[in-house]
Amino acid sequence: MKINKNYLELEDSYLFSTIAKKVNQFVKENPDKDLIRLGIGDVTLPLAPVVVEAIKNAADEMGKKETFKGYGPEQGYAFLREAIQKYYSRKNVNLEADEIFISDGAKSDLGNILDIFGYENTVLVPDPVYPVYVDTNVMAGRKIIFADANEENGFLPLPDENVKCDIIYICSPNNPTGAVYTKDGLKKWVDYALKNDAVILFDAAYECFIKSEELPNSIYEIEGAKKCAIEFCSFSKTAGFTGTRCGYTVVPKELVKEDVSLHKFWLRRQTTKFNGVPYIVQKGAEAIFSEKGQEQIKENIAYYSENAKIIAETMDKKGIWYTGGKHSPYIWLKCPNNMSSWEFFDYLLNNIAVVGTPGAGFGKNGEGYFRLTSFGNREKTIEAMERFSKLF
Ligand SMILES: *Cc1c(COP(=O)(O)O)cnc(C)c1O
Repeated sequence: MKINKNYLELEDSYLFSTIAKKVNQFVKENPDKDLIRLGIGDVTLPLAPVVVEAIKNAADEMGKKETFKGYGPEQGYAFLREAIQKYYSRKNVNLEADEIFISDGAKSDLGNILDIFGYENTVLVPDPVYPVYVDTNVMAGRKIIFADANEENGFLPLPDENVKCDIIYICSPNNPTGAVYTKDGLKKWVDYALKNDAVILFDAAYECFIKSEELPNSIYEIEGAKKCAIEFCSFSKTAGFTGTRCGYTVVPKELVKEDVSLHKFWLRRQTTKFNGVPYIVQKGAEAIFSEKGQEQIKENIAYYSENAKIIAETMDKKGIWYTGGKHSPYIWLKCPNNMSSWEFFDYLLNNIAVVGTPGAGFGKNGEGYFRLTSFGNREKTIEAMERFSKLF
């Protein structure tokens, strides 16, 4: 018996455990201080009322012999795939409903998709990055190279013709930096992928936060992308589904590598290893796409966006460099006075009892940067920024 030794290569992530330790210590020593958490990467507003209603109705259906449902289609029910298909068509992206696979969230599929790719591929990951992209490839023993995201490129690296890779991760709007690619930027990646026979794994988890018609919500808004890209999305951040679990993955039929349809491979993978998302949850997700559902989730997104604006305006006022905030729930700021990420973390915690996330936890290029999130409560966000303003 041999273990998968690649797991020994995983770097322990101390980011959130160290934050928790420091915060607990601070609370113990300062029980009277009003701590404000702007580090959370989870949503806080509840599910939209139409979603809750749909889930309740679906539960009732499951409780009656006439409407009970057992195993559903592994790829998801047609009603949800068609609702998503229609959603894409608003920006002139025309997908076939069976190019859309319903998942229990983007994180699972971002990891699972690697099943259909050979181990010998070289993977390109931006730095700083959502840690899932790196760890899932370390587990499989793939070679990983990094694309530097930094102040010079606005945390939006572009392809380098001298660097060869086979699988490319792009997250836009980005976690942790909040930076968003323009169509021109994404087109450069699509052109690179087509030329080099690479596949782009496009994480669109935050697409709902985009406010401009000009910015791409989907990589399929770029010509040629169906021949080189798989897109992952999720209702987690867009509709508060972090605990309810539902998302989707788009694998276009035009995506053919080594004369093999990746759509076919993914279908085979899913029907073998996955038995679908609960009917009850898919009914809840379907309700997001109703007129009322869209209105209700937009209200929640507007709430977070207003928080982001409050944070961004404070940075503007103080002349602190940052990305994100406008089309993203994240503000990624350059630590003032050349502080390191962790120095700045301690400084904010000890002086104004505000918690954020040190950028260094997301990769070497994150050092000296800091992530604030808008998923908190309005009054607390305002209060945190008032304290921040007095400090700088
Ligand atoms: C939150 C998040 C997701 C969504 O994950 P789920 O598994 O769908 O909850 C995907 N990608 C990024 C970058 C995220 O931050």
